[in-house]
Amino acid sequence: MIEMFQEWYENRHQYAKEWKRKNGRKVIGYFCTYVPEEILHAAGILPVRILGSHEPQDMTEPHIFGMFCPFCRDCLAQGLKGRFDYLDGITIAQSCLHIRQTFTSWDLHIPVEYSYYLPMPNRVQSQRALPYLTGELEAFKKSVEGWIGKKISDADLDRAIDIYNTNRRLMKEVYDLRKDDNPPLSGVEAMYMVVSSQMVDKEEHNMILQETLKELKGRKRNGGGERLIIVGSEDDDTEFLKMVESLGAIFVVDDHCTGTRYFWNEVMPGNNRLEAIAKRYIERPPCPSKDWEVRTRIPHIINLAKEYRVKGAIIIQQKFCDPHELDIPAIEKEFKKVGIPTLFLEFDVTVPVGQFKVRVEAFLEMLRQEDLF
Ligand code: SF4
Repeated sequence: MIEMFQEWYENRHQYAKEWKRKNGRKVIGYFCTYVPEEILHAAGILPVRILGSHEPQDMTEPHIFGMFCPFCRDCLAQGLKGRFDYLDGITIAQSCLHIRQTFTSWDLHIPVEYSYYLPMPNRVQSQRALPYLTGELEAFKKSVEGWIGKKISDADLDRAIDIYNTNRRLMKEVYDLRKDDNPPLSGVEAMYMVVSSQMVDKEEHNMILQETLKELKGRKRNGGGERLIIVGSEDDDTEFLKMVESLGAIFVVDDHCTGTRYFWNEVMPGNNRLEAIAKRYIERPPCPSKDWEVRTRIPHIINLAKEYRVKGAIIIQQKFCDPHELDIPAIEKEFKKVGIPTLFLEFDVTVPVGQFKVRVEAFLEMLRQEDLF
């Protein structure tokens, strides 16, 4: 069952095309995990996260600055190459400057039937953030209703909230299994699970998750390995995770928008459905672009590291990613205080796995020596 997540991840476009053909409904691409997918699901639309493909490309130069993060450029390249030609619409919730440029450029050069820019407050800690976002979600819902030509009822929203919460709860149960001395799944398998949930119908994903949980409870992997956390910018670089785990280590947890940041908290149902959804996005583990004035993200990462008993932390940054770069010195300092060594690596569209391998080997060697003395 667990293999299904990888299959979905690798064949995401075929999946979406087939879903559209079978259901005769719309598919929307979204650029940031702050997009309130519950509203789209309630409208009968399939939300698909737009991610890159990790291939070298030279198509985005006229459209996006070369010093914008490689992830953003890779996403735009997918649109320019026609890989997402099945999308009926695109949307973004206000995020960092780089990914906003991808959205704007896509909107301009790859026209689709519907496009919506959702103003998500950057200062989520402000008391005004909740009423502001609730109002914006009302406007978004109205706009989606206008697009599909149908009202989204409270019952539709309740059902979508329930399906999304179930998905979050099940993925959290899988993550709980990673606390074991010998976790039954690898870090790369966990990544396939979370990223595929950003691309496929959540009800189908929930069914496979339920089966996976049963399977994992009876599954034994060979060997423990150094327990690691991976922290940083957007990352769905499965080749990197595979390389690290092939050296005998294991990722047991993460702070990524392709990992825990996507699903860690649930919508607490309330009479005002949109306010309940807004509250969930305001209170979720934050992206650094939203985490100020108080840096709540850093104690959260340290708690995860303690809860999952990690020995070392790999901190990655997409080249030129300012929001994450700003956090890195403080994160390294806090890891140091609790005695967890860190390794910093800068990612590009294609990751030089060979060069990184040497650095990761040295890092793991250092962790192993610490075990000896
Ligand atoms: S990786 Fe950084 S710069 Fe790129 S989209 Fe994410 S937050 Fe923005």
